[in-house]
Amino acid sequence: METNDRFFNPNIPDEMAASIRPRVLSDFIGHKSLKQNLSVFISGAKNRGEAMDHVLLYGPPGLGKTTLAHIVANELGTNFRATAAPMLTKQGDLAAILTSLEPMDVLFIDEIHRLPTAIEEVLYSAMEDFKLDIMLGEGPSAKSVRIDLPPFTLVGATTRTGLLSNPLRDRFGIDLRLSFYSTADLAKIISRSANILGVPIDEDGAVMLAQSARGTPRIANRLLKRARDFATALGRDSISGDTIKTTLYQLHIDACGLDEIDREYISAIIKNYAGGPVGIENLAATLSEPADTIEDVIEPYLMQLGFVQRTPRGRVVTEAGYAHLGLVK
Ligand code: ADP
Repeated sequence: METNDRFFNPNIPDEMAASIRPRVLSDFIGHKSLKQNLSVFISGAKNRGEAMDHVLLYGPPGLGKTTLAHIVANELGTNFRATAAPMLTKQGDLAAILTSLEPMDVLFIDEIHRLPTAIEEVLYSAMEDFKLDIMLGEGPSAKSVRIDLPPFTLVGATTRTGLLSNPLRDRFGIDLRLSFYSTADLAKIISRSANILGVPIDEDGAVMLAQSARGTPRIANRLLKRARDFATALGRDSISGDTIKTTLYQLHIDACGLDEIDREYISAIIKNYAGGPVGIENLAATLSEPADTIEDVIEPYLMQLGFVQRTPRGRVVTEAGYAHLGLVK
């Protein structure tokens, strides 16, 4: 009973997530046409022996941007180097990374919309001509030097393209948008992860968890792992409907996959601002959450469900949003 042993082995860490992450395009579930296109671009670059064009990935957190960047490097058969824009504070930080790349490497920059302008400007010639223009020294003796870089593929990820400057966006030859996943695709992701983790869950269970996963693979995997914990606590040897109900109830996740902060967001607009419109800064102060988190993590799914709308004057709760809390607009 290897499966059950693993299921109940408390030593199997959450870091198993690393092995849940798909490594090849064929294991990446959903987004069929995006995968088809990407596969053509990868084969093209490989056949020509060139670095693949730079890729911009955008979409809310947890939809697979980092995973896809890894897959691109893997499928190209090159090294994967990763950093995040908030870690790059000086031009020299980026220069050090760029000059250590090997030909055809994939460089992944997460949260690329957060790059300081001075560093972004270094990227322009690096992306376009594989040249690094940097200033050496300061004041009157400062001089500009140009260094050749190996051809490389930059994969940038962002939660919001609106925050990217036009010159930077224009330098990406491939633009890929990740949208929320269907319940069917999330159920496949859950079944695949359950298989890897050795967690017994049937198809109905996978669908049930998928329905509460906010269209997001990362949340689907997280719910699966929490359901595994509750199954252990309840003394079950598989994840069935009643375990899932307990899990969702204990985590305060409702039938649409919304948690407490989502419901607080809706009810704050209704109670404090008569249903809106309300500006993001006021809302951030009311909820004591950073505006960024509200915009990146909370709002996209609520808008997808049609519970909230963004208008030029601010956020407004829709009739469906009121109804979700049992209220009438
Ligand atoms: P992002 O970089 O967009 O925040 P990640 O790439 O880190 O998201 O994905 C979060 C997790 O969800 C990953 O660990 C991976 O296991 C899983 N995942 C994401 N997309 C898929 C997919 N299409 N198929 C299977 N698993 C996925």
